[in-house]
Amino acid sequence: MIDTHCHLNDAQFDNDVDLVIDRLTSGGVEAVVCVGWDFKSSVKAREISDLNDNVYYAIGVHPDECDDYNQFEMEDLLRLKSSKLVAVGEIGLDYYHNKDNKFRQMEVFESQISLANKYKLPIIIHCRDAFGDMLTILKKYAPFKYGAVMHCYSGSLEYAKEIIKLGIRISFTGSVTFKNATNLHEVAKNIPLDSFFFETDSPYLTPEPNRGKRNEPIYVFDVAKAVAKLRGIDEDKLIELTDKNAKGFFRI
Ligand SMILES: [Zn+2]
Repeated sequence: MIDTHCHLNDAQFDNDVDLVIDRLTSGGVEAVVCVGWDFKSSVKAREISDLNDNVYYAIGVHPDECDDYNQFEMEDLLRLKSSKLVAVGEIGLDYYHNKDNKFRQMEVFESQISLANKYKLPIIIHCRDAFGDMLTILKKYAPFKYGAVMHCYSGSLEYAKEIIKLGIRISFTGSVTFKNATNLHEVAKNIPLDSFFFETDSPYLTPEPNRGKRNEPIYVFDVAKAVAKLRGIDEDKLIELTDKNAKGFFRI
């Protein structure tokens, strides 16, 4: 089982990251991707990856942090990458937290798409309340030769179909386990089996039945279980398929 997106580099794991990694390893999570959201957290993702065989990493500047984006700083991290750097992310647009800096967000997003292309890496996309501008940018850069995934998917089924047509993957978090997430359930039921995989986005978005607690990668099984149930297919079979998708995508 692969957790394709977690933040072991978050301060919430500072005191017990080794225990969290022990739990995921002994619990059957084969690999995780530790994702950066700014320069510092990207460096930290690399450090955690260097110390742990099954932790891969991604570097990127989240739209909330776009004021601090420095292309040269990011490019240094790309030039000095280890073999376990698997993506540029998380990058994208977030108009939920701030819609007064749309142009800056778009500029930073596009700059990082170009860096990912230059270094032949897939991108991990964050999109919140910005689906229109996002689609415009995605159409401009599609097809994504090295891959693109919209993480923590929260859009409609129609939108999912549209971006899948552009060659973009979808990834589901614990949100899909929430009873009232009916739109998301429709997405999880109806998109092609080869178009998605799973993540925790831990320490956030803890899936049921542990909602309310701090999230951690071992709970990625609960995300898979919910989607298997929605689709009416065997959980192990689904995990086998989505792992194959994720490994191919991140070249793990
Ligand atoms: Zn995240």
